[in-house]
Amino acid sequence: MGLYQLTIKDGKRHSAAAAFLVPILDRPNLTVQTGALVTRILFKGTSTIGVEYLHQGTLQQVYVNQEVILSAGVFDSPKLLMLSGIGNAEHLLPLNIPVIADLPGVGENLHDHPLVAVGYKSTQALPAIASTSNLVEAGLFLHSGKSKELAPDLQFLFSPVLWGSSDSAPDVSGSTFICCLINPQSRGTVTLQSANPTDIMSA
Ligand SMILES: Cc1cc2nc3c(=O)[nH]c(=O)nc-3n(C[C@H](O)[C@H](O)[C@H](O)COP(=O)(O)OP(=O)(O)OC[C@H]3O[C@@H](n4cnc5c(N)ncnc54)[C@H](O)[C@@H]3O)c2cc1C
Repeated sequence: MGLYQLTIKDGKRHSAAAAFLVPILDRPNLTVQTGALVTRILFKGTSTIGVEYLHQGTLQQVYVNQEVILSAGVFDSPKLLMLSGIGNAEHLLPLNIPVIADLPGVGENLHDHPLVAVGYKSTQALPAIASTSNLVEAGLFLHSGKSKELAPDLQFLFSPVLWGSSDSAPDVSGSTFICCLINPQSRGTVTLQSANPTDIMSA
């Protein structure tokens, strides 16, 4: 157990963008395009050659010399792979998406960690939390003894604020203890509802 390590600069939380991207924005070999929705990865045969994206209502294509790194998060990464023709052919063909690679594992095997939070109102007003707080400041991993895995199966977290119960205002002093199952057995899937990149997926 212990206090979590945080990324802090000048007394404030510091994001990866502020730390690594903003200082090099004027590099001639770097273009940052915000407000863009990537719609698919472009292929020539089975090799990636670029990315297509929607920006201000117009479809744009950008081509690469070497590689495309796809890091769109847990739901949108498989979504973009499927929109680009990488996924289960039985799912893609009815949507008229040309199959580049028949990979049934795309969008499968999602794990999540369910948690239960118990909030306590404090009996006296507490000082305001620090501007450096991540709202979850300490944690504990432990093994329940019920799991066959060697790794811990439970995580406990401590938050110095009262998490959003319906009867608590944000300025009510309190704290929250959270218990989280980190070795869940259930598995989820995501699939496309349509070939339209602006549609959300089915989970
Ligand atoms: C409530 C919560 C608590 C968490 N706590 C922890 C923790 O304590 N420890 C831990 O290790 N991890 C934690 N995680 C998980 C962690 O946040 C993720 O694993 C991590 O952020 C994944 O990074 P990523 O860059 O792959 O994706 P993301 O951080 O999800 O970034 C993906 C980015 O891609 C953008 N994007 C998606 N689709 C498109 C598109 N089509 N076009 C353009 N842009 C697109 C999104 O807008 C987003 O900015 C937590 C997650 C949540 C939600």
